[in-house]
Order: sequence, then structure tokens, then C-alpha cells
Amino acid sequence: MTWQKVAATQRLLKDERGTIRKDWGGKLPIVLIFPNRYYLGMSSLAVHTLYRLWNEREDVVCERVFTDLTPPISLESGFPLHYFPILAFSISYEMDYFQVVALLRASGIPLRALDRDDTHPLIIAGGPAVSANPEPLAPFLDAVLIGEIEPIFDRLTDALHRVLDSREAALAALGSLPGLYLPQHHSQTADPPRITRQWLDDLDRFPSHSVLFTPHTEFANTGLIEIARGCGRGCRFCLAGYAYRPPRQRSLDSILGQARELLQHTDRMALVSAAVSDHSQIDELAIQLRRLGARIGVSSVRVDPISEPLVRALAESGTQTLTIAPEAGSERLRRIIHKMQTEQDVINAAELAGRYHLAQLKLYFMIGLPGEEEADIQAIVDLASACASRFPRQVTVNVTPFVPKAHTPFQRVAQTPAAVVQRRLDYLERELRRRNIGLKSESPAWAEIQGTLARGDRRLAEALQIIDRVTPRAWRQALERCGLSADEFLAERPAGTRLPWHFIRFGPS
Ligand code: SF4
Repeated sequence: MTWQKVAATQRLLKDERGTIRKDWGGKLPIVLIFPNRYYLGMSSLAVHTLYRLWNEREDVVCERVFTDLTPPISLESGFPLHYFPILAFSISYEMDYFQVVALLRASGIPLRALDRDDTHPLIIAGGPAVSANPEPLAPFLDAVLIGEIEPIFDRLTDALHRVLDSREAALAALGSLPGLYLPQHHSQTADPPRITRQWLDDLDRFPSHSVLFTPHTEFANTGLIEIARGCGRGCRFCLAGYAYRPPRQRSLDSILGQARELLQHTDRMALVSAAVSDHSQIDELAIQLRRLGARIGVSSVRVDPISEPLVRALAESGTQTLTIAPEAGSERLRRIIHKMQTEQDVINAAELAGRYHLAQLKLYFMIGLPGEEEADIQAIVDLASACASRFPRQVTVNVTPFVPKAHTPFQRVAQTPAAVVQRRLDYLERELRRRNIGLKSESPAWAEIQGTLARGDRRLAEALQIIDRVTPRAWRQALERCGLSADEFLAERPAGTRLPWHFIRFGPS
């Protein structure tokens, strides 16, 4: 590691408020790993919440690792990964699987769980992507938490403590907990035991807000507060909608209490939820937060109907951009994906954003959706143009290629080939440019990598292990070297064929 990198770490810590440094004596050291950069990880509420929960326990010391440094060391003590008996990965996105393998390799830790013994750390992972389908990473992990940690937090931490006796003792204790999947011990028979996704019934019992503040992150010096979890709208493509069912919300008292705590550090707050404006008291919440003196921001707002008090509160808070997500251009396709917004709902939102003098309107769409036709792409152009004619400032269209996800109603559909998605994107770009509407899009070729991982099985572990520098071409080649083809994983899964995640009970429906 170069001195420049050490200096960079020190600078991160110098600019950070809320860092916890604990003495290791008599405690279980857990390193919480976000397999991506500090800049992204520090805007993850899961990182803040786990860091706080573990450090609140007197018998645990929890430190953080991101991918900024190679070889990786913890931010707090500067110790390398193999000093920690427990490595806890918080994984929210399939593309971070490459980083999980790279971090273990750079730390000199045997990649495969079966090659590790009592001299090596025990590795556990959680997060929506691995909860839905842990199989591509399964050979590298000792344990996977399926679902939310809070309902079993203390029992899980007690079980991790057993690693100080032996790996075997810890694995036996973990294996007795609900929601814990031990990939190396799980029966591979035709009818293995089911693992049930865990979810917290009463959010108010576990506050979830920022505890660390830094200028070096996406939501710089902002207090994140989770106001609700899950979403009941049932959009058929949406993993977040299914991974956090049933929808639950925090009480106003709990949210305002957390906001008061955050106000001691910052007046800037971002409300976090799969669907922020679905909170049943969102209007009242926005008004009360403004009265407390908070400046609020949200990731996106629902438009059916749009909440005027919320938009007003955003504008008063200095928010420049209103983000809405029609997802598909035509009402026909929106019905197929179960995104029940009308064109008029979207236009009303654009008019409201104009009335409150916001600087930008962002519209999120997906391309490659099941049932999509060329006319649906033209419908995106038409809808964006209709918004632009009502919103006098910058309109930007953001496009993501659709990737089918495990446990969603679209889990068996074929992923639209990258070439088709690219052609539709090119058309969109041409037509939007002619109308002075901005376009930002993600790469269809990279979406294919994500697609293989989202619905892949254990055979992908070998490809994850041998790939050096990740590119779409290198990934296809790595798969071929393992005797696999990306097309197999991107193809339709006919009804009745067994899915790699079949043993996970994701309910409630
Ligand atoms: S896309 Fe949004 S509204 Fe639809 S299910 Fe997901 S979180 Fe809910």
C-alpha cells in the first residue's frame, strides 16, 4: 500500500464525524465490509445501522472496510482483514460480487469456504441481492442472512461470538437460527429445507438513521432516516418491492425523534424508503420536519397523486431536482409491469415541479421490459416531450436496461438481448436530442453481466474466481472457460424448471 493511500484514509477519517474507536480487549472484532468505494458505502443506511448496532454492544468492536485501499485495511484501526475473526459483507448490488472475491484475494484469505479453517475469518453476507439469490457467491461464504437482521440481531451476534471457540461452534449456532443459510452445510438434495426470509414487524423498535457524517459521499453531510420499509405497489420488476414485504412504516413520533437527534449534526436530511411518498403521513411529516428546521430531500416521489406539501417542502429545502419514475413510456406497458400511473399523473407532477421553480425534472424509465414494442420507446419520447412542454427548465431521461430478478413475478422471463436494448437506446438518444431533452443511460452489455449474476447458480463462482479485469467481453470469456454460456442464464426459465433460489421462502406474498 502506498503512502498516498494511507494519507487518503487519514484524510477521510479527519473529515468524518461520528467515527467509533473501541479498545479490542475482550471483544469480538467484526469488520463490516461494503464491497465498493467509501463514497458509495457511506450513503448506505445499512452500513450506518449495522455500525451503530454492533458498536452499541459492549462485547463487540465493529470497524469498516471499503474498496478504496488495496490491500484492504479497516478504517478505524488500520488492521488487515485477516486480523478479524468475522467478516460481515453488506451487499446491495450483484455487480459488487466481483469486489467480494477481489477483497478476499487481496487479503490472502482462501476464497472458498471449504478451504478455510480455524485460522481464517468466518465470512457472513447479507443484503437484498444475496437474500434473493445467494448461489453465485455461495462457495465463498460461510453464512448468508436471508432478509432483515433486526429480528435476530442479538442471537446472530451471540452466535458469531462462538467463533472465538471454533468455526464449527459458530456455524452450529448460526445454523440453529431462522433465516441463516449455510451454503456448505445446506442439503443439495431435490427437496432441501427451506430458509425463510426474516423481516422486522415493528420498525419503531429499531431506529435507522445516519451515525457518521462526511463530505466525501453522495449524500454529503446529510442525515439519512429510514421512514418506511417495503412497498405494497407490486411493480412486477422490482426486487426492492418483493425483498422487503410487507410494507411497514415508522410512526411520526419515531421519525421526528430521530430527526431531532440528527439536527445536532446537520440540518440536511434525506428520507429513505423504497417508496418515500407512500408513507401514509408524508404531508404531515414534511410539514413537521420543516418546522423543526430540517432541509429535506427524497430519492423520488410517487405521482398518483403527487403530494404538493412534499414538493413544497423540497423546494423550500433548496432541492433542485424532482425525480419521478414512470418506468415505461406507454400506459399499456405500465399496466403489464403493474406500474399504475397515468400519463396525466406524470404531467401533473411536471407542472407542479415547474410551479415550485425546481431546476430539473428527472424521469426514470427501463428498456427491455417484457412485452415492450418499438412503439413503447416512441412513447417514452412523447411522454418526456409532454413533460418538457410543461416544465420550462431541464428535463432529463434516465434509462436502465431491465434485468429480471429472483422472487419477482418476472423471475422466469428472458432478459432482452443487449443488442436490441442498445438499438432502442440509440433511437431514444437521437429523438430526445432533437427535442433538447437530456439522456443518461446504463450500458446494456453491463446489464447482461448483472443479469447472469441475478439469476445464476453456484457454477458462476468459478468464473467470478478466474476473471481478472471485469468487462462484458472478459465475463463472457470467463464463463466460456468454465464451460458456461451467459445466454443460458439470460434465457427464459420455463415454468416447472427448478430455479437456483427455490429453497428460499420469500413470503409473505
Ligand atoms: S418500483 Fe417503486 S413503487 Fe414499484 S414496487 Fe418498487 S418501490 Fe414500489
